[in-house]
Amino acid sequence: MEVWKDRNDKKKDNKNIAMHNFTEQDIYFMHQALKCAQEAQKKDEVPIGAVIVKDNKIIAKGYNKNITLKDSTAHAEIVAIRKACKKLNNYRLTDCSVYITIEPCSMCMGALILARIKKLYFGAKDIKAGACGSALDIPKLKLNHKINVYSGLLEQDCAKIIKEFFKNKRKRGIEV
Ligand SMILES: [Zn+2]
Repeated sequence: MEVWKDRNDKKKDNKNIAMHNFTEQDIYFMHQALKCAQEAQKKDEVPIGAVIVKDNKIIAKGYNKNITLKDSTAHAEIVAIRKACKKLNNYRLTDCSVYITIEPCSMCMGALILARIKKLYFGAKDIKAGACGSALDIPKLKLNHKINVYSGLLEQDCAKIIKEFFKNKRKRGIEV
């Protein structure tokens, strides 16, 4: 289990973070989500990663496993939610935050709301399917639970890994 510790080694990304007011802790957790995305990439899955945090500790990690599990719902967030619920032995993830490399889709936003996630941080936008302001804007809907959403955390790193993944696929002549 990773615990965030206050470290003095300033990360190189700090310059683009200051304007968004993200903390070093936020940056650390998004780096962990990026590591999950790299795991997905190794398995030729779309490189999206997510971590769920409670009391400054990562309680669950996930990355896309659609192909591996032959499951169209096995997005990084869903994988992480299932693990976190098991870990907390509760279907509600009260006072938990989630860090996701890419803007969540409508299915994942629905699941995060059902799980009562408190805060959501994502890196890059997903113009075609993102449900936090891109394709649709679920946080703006009048629902029974509101998640505070913060975007643009390590945006360039999060966008880069996915762009390169699809570029490579196209290069290999694989339809995406
Ligand atoms: Zn999703």
